[in-house]
Amino acid sequence: MAFDAPFDLAAVRAQFPILSRQVNGRPLVYLDNAASAQKPTAVIEAMKGAMEFSYANVHRGLHTLANETTEAYEKARKSVAHFLNAAETEIVFTKGGTEAINLVASSFGLGLQAGDEILITQMEHHSNIVPWHLLRERKGVVLRFAPVTETGELDLPATLEMIGEKTRLVAFTHMSNVLGTINPVKAITDAAQAAGALVLVDGCQGAVHMAVDVKDLDCDFYVCTGHKLYGPTGIGILYGKAERLAALPPYQGGGEMIGAVTEDHITYAEPPMRFEAGTPPIIEAIALGAAIDWLMAFDRQAVARHERALYDRVVDRLSGHNWLRIIGTAPDKGAIMAFTVEGAHPHDIAQILDKQGVAVRAGTHCAEPLMARFGVTASARASFALYNTEAEADAFADALVKAHSFFA
Ligand SMILES: *Cc1c(COP(=O)(O)O)cnc(C)c1O
Repeated sequence: MAFDAPFDLAAVRAQFPILSRQVNGRPLVYLDNAASAQKPTAVIEAMKGAMEFSYANVHRGLHTLANETTEAYEKARKSVAHFLNAAETEIVFTKGGTEAINLVASSFGLGLQAGDEILITQMEHHSNIVPWHLLRERKGVVLRFAPVTETGELDLPATLEMIGEKTRLVAFTHMSNVLGTINPVKAITDAAQAAGALVLVDGCQGAVHMAVDVKDLDCDFYVCTGHKLYGPTGIGILYGKAERLAALPPYQGGGEMIGAVTEDHITYAEPPMRFEAGTPPIIEAIALGAAIDWLMAFDRQAVARHERALYDRVVDRLSGHNWLRIIGTAPDKGAIMAFTVEGAHPHDIAQILDKQGVAVRAGTHCAEPLMARFGVTASARASFALYNTEAEADAFADALVKAHSFFA
């Protein structure tokens, strides 16, 4: 079903069974979307259908169900390829965003040497920090962090300055899961290419809130995760340019990723199969395909405008409260609000909001270096999705004012 801009919010919400439940006696106001999004019936049904109607292992069948399931699995790959404007052979299914980055770190990392540099940023998710730390520990690779400004933007001149002849890879987030900042992918990619470095973009948030064209971005790798894209857990996406994937050694060994195996010799399958060892997350991939088909039926810009309008509404309603500190105020940011409340621990704020039915996250958001950058040990975070409403934005803002009153 396609929705025109502005889309029919009530009809969209009706597709999410969970949104009609109550929490602590109040209607659920789910604002933890940056951690994981709720699922529409299109996804729930696709998952159910993949088990109820046609299920078998993929790629090895000589029977009808195996062929049907393989077709459904590969159809999902086609949806993902279309979603990112890539070729199907450039799409690898992983078990999540984290695994997609670990795949690149492991396989690309094999070719790195002590002294080679990997440039990331201070606003990365641990998923895009720790795999590179492992290479630092194991290989002596030098890990550098591009600085973030007081408004939560990448210091672009400083970042570009840090890209040099030792840089092998620049890995950074398309959109920060804490600040909401959207990074200038092309400017960084241009500079990396000029220096002969590869580029990995962590799109775990970006692909949810923006239309992504990897050809246009021209990055070497782009990472997405299923459960934030209104799809299931246990499935992620690694896009890699055909020539980059072709040059990468395998990540894990097992069935389906080989050409031929003898006792003393092995050859590997071509991408993407080379990187999908063992039985893949079949049901999850099929349901992710359904999630993406569902999302692509929307006017993505209208969705982004809607989400941002909710964010602006909350900021407006809370303006003038000097006990509130919003971390990340980039002008064209996405609809994520990380914040602290003077005199209150973020965990306490989240718990008090929960009593009022409002679900927000509190903690480090898997971004400890970023917390350190802003001089906090934790923050609370409200993050908006396409199904959130103005009434929910108001409910959150009012609940926050009330929560603060307990500490004032
Ligand atoms: C959620 C997230 C990840 C990790 O993805 P998982 O699939 O949950 O492992 C990585 N980077 C960013 C920016 C994220 O928001």
